[in-house]
Amino acid sequence: MKPLALSFAPPKKWRNPGQTKKLEREKWQILRKKILERDNYICSYCGYKSEKYQIIDHIDGNPENNEDGNLQVICQMCNLIKHSGQGCEIQAVVDLYRKSKYNQNAIIKITRKMRDEGSKDVEVIKVLELKGKAPFKMDLEYLRKLVGFISSRQPLEKDMYYNWLNYHRRELKNENHAF
Ligand SMILES: [Zn+2]
Repeated sequence: MKPLALSFAPPKKWRNPGQTKKLEREKWQILRKKILERDNYICSYCGYKSEKYQIIDHIDGNPENNEDGNLQVICQMCNLIKHSGQGCEIQAVVDLYRKSKYNQNAIIKITRKMRDEGSKDVEVIKVLELKGKAPFKMDLEYLRKLVGFISSRQPLEKDMYYNWLNYHRRELKNENHAF
């Protein structure tokens, strides 16, 4: 797994759907499918596999660089960390901490697993040993020293993260019924 770290895109690009409009929609859909299949629908940072709502991410942050080598699959949770302006300010579901027992990749994996099993935020925070809450600042040097925790607070409705969350919960329920 690649190391995941808090970062952000310039605010101008936060709500900009232009990322997928750089290529014509149809061409982008074909490219998107190709990358999803290449990476087997698995997030590059946490290993989460999903048939739906995975994001095709530009590794170098340049939405115009659509070379295969610049594209990777990233899940909705890791995306909130990589684009922490979205996570902290727009969606307001990500909390920042100065200390954790685990690295950012493991924080995502443990959070998702524990939440799927029904744990509350306080219980997850305790296991992760998250300490020293910190505010969001648009400063990469500052963010580099922090980790992000995705809380169970309700995200913006009808947004991609919200849609994924509902999809993930439904899938989970179906799996549990199968046993
Ligand atoms: Zn992920």
